[in-house]
Amino acid sequence: MVVASHRNAQLKINLGAIAQNVKNEVSRLPGGTQMFAVVKANGYGHGAVPVAKTAAENGATGFCVAVLDEALELRQAGLDQPILVLGITEPKDAVLASENNVSLSVGSLSWLQESTNDLQEQTKQLKIHLAIDSGMSRIGFIEDEEFVAANDYLNDHQAEFEVEGMFTHFASADTAQTDYFNYQVGRFNHLKSLLRVEPKYIHVANTATSLFHEACHSDLVRFGIGIYGLNPSSAPGATDLVPPFEIKPALSLTTALSFVKQIHKGSGVSYGSTYVAEGDEWIGTVPVGYADGWQRSLQGFEVKVGDIYCPIVGRICMDQFMVKLPNELPVGTPVELISANPTAKNSLKAAADKIGTIHYEVACLFTSRLPRIYY
Ligand SMILES: *Cc1c(COP(=O)(O)O)cnc(C)c1O
Repeated sequence: MVVASHRNAQLKINLGAIAQNVKNEVSRLPGGTQMFAVVKANGYGHGAVPVAKTAAENGATGFCVAVLDEALELRQAGLDQPILVLGITEPKDAVLASENNVSLSVGSLSWLQESTNDLQEQTKQLKIHLAIDSGMSRIGFIEDEEFVAANDYLNDHQAEFEVEGMFTHFASADTAQTDYFNYQVGRFNHLKSLLRVEPKYIHVANTATSLFHEACHSDLVRFGIGIYGLNPSSAPGATDLVPPFEIKPALSLTTALSFVKQIHKGSGVSYGSTYVAEGDEWIGTVPVGYADGWQRSLQGFEVKVGDIYCPIVGRICMDQFMVKLPNELPVGTPVELISANPTAKNSLKAAADKIGTIHYEVACLFTSRLPRIYY
């Protein structure tokens, strides 16, 4: 999708906020604990490369991404820090990863076996992190037997593999309810006791684990959502846990009214006429739609037009939507769809709450048509 640079609509990313969030987190980590900045999914929609550079300048010593291509994007941008791919990469791409000094997550013995031949044909070792499924049921070793067999296999194949890490991921580090979290800690520690290799990094912490479970910092933290200034403990309807330092949101989304008109009693607004004017009403048109990631379910959400919050009326279209104005306002009046102020009525979290999801999802669905402006 092309970047719409000839439309007045921008995702604005405050790199100062990102720098501050990274610095605050790094400064509270115990000595020896590193911070890897998680910049998967284009930096949660914020832009992977600018976020990664800012994080590195402020104390992050490595990066995590979801897929190999995201790691290659960082390498192409000249970033030479360690990078870990958190998802499962196909064995056929093991050589590409090792050529680019990218570390891969491995969760099965068969994966090691399938990638061995290709790796034998080149001199570089592949760096791997052993993924442990301690209860997330997503990826990783579960059974003792397979884990031990993989350890033995790695000891027999030191020319091909360097075991750089061992890690797990928690399903519920973001709530005050800690039973399942503690169960996962137990499972992870059990598998750790079976290690027959010596990983450099043992790691378990995403943002929520690092912020709310201080005992779990270990050798590195995989800090994602916190970089962007968003509280991981903010599921719709839940009571949020409070981070130990103030995190500052980095993203705002702004545009301007592209059209303004008065409509009269009985006129419908947008597809399906789900909104019908009850009298003479001023309606503004905003040039952003679901093709920008501004989801249809945000109908009814209030955005800030000038200084006034105005409700979205009628269905959100692919490229435009309408708001009900209190009175006539000029074309070009600024419209703030998402505010970087976490307590604003139109914060990212408020938008996520409105549509029953989490701010992670709202942020990473903003498409490439919206230009990212860094300041
Ligand atoms: C996405 C992800 C993270 C980062 O999670 P946040 O909640 O954004 O901090 C850490 N570890 C793994 C395995 C992940 O998939």
